[in-house]
Amino acid sequence: TAGERETSPRMRDLLQKHDFHTKKQFGQNFLIDQNVLDRIADAVRPDDHTLVLEIGPGAGALTVELARRAAKVVAIEKDETLRPVLRDVLEPYPNVEVTFADVLDVDLAGLLQPDLTGDRKLCFAANLPYYITTPILFQVLEANLPLERAVVMVQKEVADRMVAGPGGKEYGVLSVGIQYRASAKRLFTVPPGAFAPQPGVDSAVVLLDCTQPQDVSVEDEKVFFRVVKAAFSTRRKTLLNALSNAMGVPKDTCKAWIEDAGVRPEARAETLSIEQFAALANRYLTLSQ
Ligand code: SAM
Repeated sequence: TAGERETSPRMRDLLQKHDFHTKKQFGQNFLIDQNVLDRIADAVRPDDHTLVLEIGPGAGALTVELARRAAKVVAIEKDETLRPVLRDVLEPYPNVEVTFADVLDVDLAGLLQPDLTGDRKLCFAANLPYYITTPILFQVLEANLPLERAVVMVQKEVADRMVAGPGGKEYGVLSVGIQYRASAKRLFTVPPGAFAPQPGVDSAVVLLDCTQPQDVSVEDEKVFFRVVKAAFSTRRKTLLNALSNAMGVPKDTCKAWIEDAGVRPEARAETLSIEQFAALANRYLTLSQ
């Protein structure tokens, strides 16, 4: 098709052999740049104690690099028609287990638990399908997995939001949700030419170090995320108006709540640090009792 660069010969032969055609609706943009594949797999820093969770193995290009470096790879792929392709390419790697399912329906902790014995450590790697990047990221982060590191390829704009700090227009619910659980760092950008077929956007690889989360104490995570979402629900409004509307708290009570948390009611959500959101959420608990 116009705009799509030649797939690497190895990948092309593999897909042709199995008469496989990539599906746009599954976000299938397969990585064909060996340098990018190596850099992602190396950034995971796997060793022979590492179990790697991979979501969306596709034709297995990244899976192979992970399998070479880690003790085991557990992969989840939605597209059943990739079964013969993956069986073929992963044949030399008995340390890979592929589950065919929609990841959003999978109990991740239950799936990984049998492999998390002894001194195993857990990492997550993915070239994510861009149409459901955020739900997948939150599913992995909220599954209470003993995750050490995650290395994910996402759309460049999403990477900017993941790593953004307070003050800019990229800072929002995604930034707070990610950085509440991990320190986030953008590693490098990847042009469309590294994929087949080429996506219409630039991509970037983000590293999440879950061993270094923010030093904040949140008493009730559900309330924390309710408050964060409410605060960002109407960007142009002051915190007072946004929280009062979205949380259904009368103006005067809301003003006292925000001030008691040590925050200015006239502030905008995008200027608040994660500590300030935590203070708001913890204070809200005393309010609703
Ligand atoms: N890892 C491969 C690579 O780097 O070449 C493929 C990456 S491709 C961007 C995303 C993969 O996620 C596709 O193989 C797609 O079929 C799969 N996928 C899409 N939606 C999914 C879902 N809900 N659950 C699991 N896998 C999904």
